[in-house]
Amino acid sequence: MSETDAKLNAVIGMAMSVLPEEIGCDDCFDYFAAYADHLTNGTPVPEPLRMVGSHLERCAFCMEELELLLEAMKAR
Ligand SMILES: [Zn+2]
Repeated sequence: MSETDAKLNAVIGMAMSVLPEEIGCDDCFDYFAAYADHLTNGTPVPEPLRMVGSHLERCAFCMEELELLLEAMKAR
């Protein structure tokens, strides 16, 4: 393995270890626009965005924000 690969693997390992099982509201907001796009287009939600869906199931606040965003997108 080259030094670059080793470094890359270390970075990936680090990213994986801090990757939260559950995302917080702040992270959720970052993905909202992309998530809402998939909902409005009816395209399948890709794996990383599924965390948003599972957060929304538990977080009434974010669910409400998403509904407002969807309404705004429809109105556009
Ligand atoms: Zn939330």
